Amino acid sequence: MAITVFNTLTQKKEEFVPREPGKISIYVCGVTPYNYAHIGNARPPVIWDCIRRFLRYRGYQVCLVQNFTDVDDKIIFRAQQIGIEPLELSAEYSQVYLEDLAALGIEPADQYPKVSEHIKEIIQIVEGLVEKGHAYVIDGDVYFAIDTFPEYGKLSGRQLEEMLSGARVDVDDRKQNPMDFALWKAAKPGEPSWDSPWGKGRPGWHIECSAMSLKYLGVGFDFHGGGTDLIFPHHENEIAQAEAYCGTKPFVRYWLHSAFITMSGDKMSKSLGNVVTIREACERFSPKVVRFWLLGTHYRHPLSFGEEELHAAARGLERLEIAKENWKHLLSAGTTGQNGDQAEKITQLVTDCKKRFIEAMEDDFNTALALGILYELVREVNKWALATNFKLTTGNQQALQEALSLLEELGAVLGIWFEQDPKAGSLSDEQINELVQKRQEARASKDFKTADSIRDSLQEQGIILEDTPQGVRWRRE
Ligand SMILES: [Zn+2]
Repeated sequence: MAITVFNTLTQKKEEFVPREPGKISIYVCGVTPYNYAHIGNARPPVIWDCIRRFLRYRGYQVCLVQNFTDVDDKIIFRAQQIGIEPLELSAEYSQVYLEDLAALGIEPADQYPKVSEHIKEIIQIVEGLVEKGHAYVIDGDVYFAIDTFPEYGKLSGRQLEEMLSGARVDVDDRKQNPMDFALWKAAKPGEPSWDSPWGKGRPGWHIECSAMSLKYLGVGFDFHGGGTDLIFPHHENEIAQAEAYCGTKPFVRYWLHSAFITMSGDKMSKSLGNVVTIREACERFSPKVVRFWLLGTHYRHPLSFGEEELHAAARGLERLEIAKENWKHLLSAGTTGQNGDQAEKITQLVTDCKKRFIEAMEDDFNTALALGILYELVREVNKWALATNFKLTTGNQQALQEALSLLEELGAVLGIWFEQDPKAGSLSDEQINELVQKRQEARASKDFKTADSIRDSLQEQGIILEDTPQGVRWRRE
């Protein structure tokens, strides 16, 4: 079966045909690193890591590029507040974000280009747009003239009137059309700036992604990803700049957008103040559980962050992990007898699950359905292999080994088996509170041996207990 994807540009599911047979190129919009990234910023990279793993599993060669917007108003503003150089601040938080991604088991992208390192490429495109009459210069600023690109609005499906009423438009009489957007901004005092044909300045936000994707992937690359909040204006502008500059289309073959993350029904956003960072989520639950939770919902559906959802994810992951361990344990015993009682049925189940897993992933990368198939495999195999009358005959051994290998193989496609950084995977507050409570109970019943052993094991993990008149307090070393 072919891969089908929902393309935001056409608003329908389409058969995926790569630009080049066997090779797939992906560009995903990254973050503006000025602070700890929130959990919403983990969704696209986890999804794309999983898509990349699946495409490789299907024999494709994949190149994935994710950028850092390291020159931006927010960075400049925060750097001024703290009193450091903007590029120093963005370098620091780019590193923090890369650590977050690694903690979530995300394999590094092939390229992590930064705006500050691609000024030359950006200027080249802006110059080209000015030459072709798609952009105009005013007082050191350069604007893209949307009236010169009749297809403007094709990605977001917006009409001009709608854009004007929906967007916060800078009132600027110098612009030919209020929706024209900045490609280059003249330098303001105290801001990072570079020399250009229009004087000192810095790039506008959107141009970087056209410049960097064209540089690393070339025109007409396969997938462009990001959150739905980027469709307009960011991705709309990327298309306008790139297609006007190249004079060919499409700039991108398939646009895939992941939905946002909600908390208690509201969209998680800085302005609402209900933001959870990737780090906080990983500390409260564990990177593995966070990743598993992100994959438990199809990327186009909103995803809710909360205790209940994350605990459900933890239980789901645990079910798969325990099955894997149980099956390994069963297989470590010696065989008795020859025939398997239901070995054929299990072998059939294994073949069937593999086929349906691939179909689920080929259907617009439906990780939720794919996980459901792993649960089904575990449920059916457990019913058979964990039954009291199960014997490890040679036939059964082979069937169980096939089931185990498939579970390991497909889990690896989703990237759910990974060694956590021991620090990141340390005990959650909740788990510590539980242990402290157990120790109190042991002490109350004069079981000092247990109480001391809990204390010692916590200490080994860097948790210090302090007995105070108000009760027991704990802290991390
Ligand atoms: Zn972008």
